Amino acid sequence: MKYIGAHAHIKGGVENAPEEAYRWGASAFAMFTKSERQWRAAPLKPESIERFKQRCREYGFSPAHILPHDSFLINLGHPEPDGLKKSREAFLDEMRRCEQLGLVLLNFHPGNSLKKIGEEACLERIAESINETLEQTKGVCAVLENTAGQGSDLGYRFEHLAYIIERVEDKKRVGVCLDTCHAFAAGYDIRTPSGFEETFEHFEEVVGFRYLKGMHLNDSKKGLGSRVDRHESIGKGELGWETFRRIMEDKRFDNIPLILETPDETVWEEDIKLLCRMAEKG
Ligand SMILES: [Zn+2]
Ligand SMILES: [Zn+2]
Repeated sequence: MKYIGAHAHIKGGVENAPEEAYRWGASAFAMFTKSERQWRAAPLKPESIERFKQRCREYGFSPAHILPHDSFLINLGHPEPDGLKKSREAFLDEMRRCEQLGLVLLNFHPGNSLKKIGEEACLERIAESINETLEQTKGVCAVLENTAGQGSDLGYRFEHLAYIIERVEDKKRVGVCLDTCHAFAAGYDIRTPSGFEETFEHFEEVVGFRYLKGMHLNDSKKGLGSRVDRHESIGKGELGWETFRRIMEDKRFDNIPLILETPDETVWEEDIKLLCRMAEKG
């Protein structure tokens, strides 16, 4: 079965996210557990946590289909000691917030070398950051997102993700979230039937579907291999509806959260409906 949703808002408290997702008719959702533009946030209030859990139960959202995203400020591969320390502390806080909410996934962008260290050194640093965080927490899986490879962002090759996973000690608590816009911008041509097959065969070989914990369904404003990360509404970009129909009809994407992060929120309800219909036919 397909679990489909979008990125819900937490204005007024994290407990408002499941309510919004329910209104869309979603069976999955993503969220931040604090403002994504700030390093620090007040701890979650016990009543917020209780209400969040209660609403998830009420609306039938299971933790495996909720995909929280960390702050954009965090860089687990930061080349400088101060930046790395700050990022690791903030990431640990994000993991603990997920733990408190009873969640089991935390989605993040691997990291950025800022062109000050080599790719391998940066990837090793990211793996070390993950290991450190996993040692101090329990239950939450660190979910690496593939990137578009903008600037000095790493994680745009499946090999980068595999390199990190290989170095993570607790393999049960590391996974991957594939963003369709990022993959396409990074040069994976999932737009054609043969490119789609090749890309995901390659993913199976290099990373393995057993690590796939979620997906971001975004169309792309920019072209194949542009290395520019600009999301577009489904069907309005370079990928087109056919790409997403293929995903909906493919059993390899069953039982994980499939999340829209597209710019026009007014079409989310309709897009979720359409995707669900495609999945039923699949
Ligand atoms: Zn992301
Ligand atoms: Zn994404």
